[in-house]
Amino acid sequence: MRIGISDCLLGTKCRYDGQHKRSRFVTDVLSRHATFLPFCPEGATIGTPRESMYLVRSESGPRAITQKSGLDHTDKLLGFNREAIANISAQNLCGFIFKAKSPSCGLERVKLYTADHQPTDETAQGLFARAITEAFPMLPVEEEGRLEDPWLRENFMMQIFAYQRWLDFEASGPQMRDLVAFHARHKFLLLGKNEVHYRTIGRLVANHDKRTLSDLLAEYRPLFLQTIGEKSSLKSTLNQLQHLYGFVKKLVDEAEKASILESIDHCSQRVIPLIVPLKLIELAARKHQVTYLLDQHYLSPYPQELGLRSDLKSSR
Ligand code: SF4
Repeated sequence: MRIGISDCLLGTKCRYDGQHKRSRFVTDVLSRHATFLPFCPEGATIGTPRESMYLVRSESGPRAITQKSGLDHTDKLLGFNREAIANISAQNLCGFIFKAKSPSCGLERVKLYTADHQPTDETAQGLFARAITEAFPMLPVEEEGRLEDPWLRENFMMQIFAYQRWLDFEASGPQMRDLVAFHARHKFLLLGKNEVHYRTIGRLVANHDKRTLSDLLAEYRPLFLQTIGEKSSLKSTLNQLQHLYGFVKKLVDEAEKASILESIDHCSQRVIPLIVPLKLIELAARKHQVTYLLDQHYLSPYPQELGLRSDLKSSR
């Protein structure tokens, strides 16, 4: 799995002051499951150390200007962006993690200034982040600071691993039956993201109109990628748990049933984390060989050792 990243998050000393902004989650955890494609637009075009910059409002869009000497580096940075986009197009990335607040890498809410150095109330995207998100609108993107939030982290991990499965699926030269199987394994994951989309995609794959595979894939792709990019809510998660439980409730004994229901209830009150009811349902599915449930990516949307669902705050 390849992920694009602001280089300073990997510990590279490429910030304007010669320092880094290493993210422990990225270097110590995520690195076990992904390789990174690093970018530092400012370091590559201006060098390190360098004078700090900010984004200045202008008619043609924000410009990157140095804070003391007033040098305009915008054109150089835009040239870097064009090369980076060509590079990324050939790489099949499954996500991008940006450094927050940077005039180049900030994904959102980067402060804008006036030409005479006064802060405004307006914000923008950093120049590099804007170029990447415009060129690859379906690519999963997040800022490193937001990944400290267990709920956002869980959602982003679920998204990038699903995105990677989609890339692998597309590259495999799928037939109609493969699309049906791919979709079947993602049903609960999609249901937890957006029930309306879940139903729309289900109708699409049922293909009552006998459309061609390429026609279906052209419509399935954006719907699938958009849906996996949505954030799960506690309400949708509880709905999912009830659906999952529905597949085992007639198979389990009274004691098991009581344990599962109590764990769902405690999960709804945020007394225990999501992993508890999920594991109880999974164990019941294993015991009674409910293959359809065991095949669901929602039960293991990313490597278990990430342990994201063990955090009470991973549901919101
Ligand atoms: S935020 Fe972006 S431009 Fe700034 S040092 Fe990090 S990678 Fe380089």
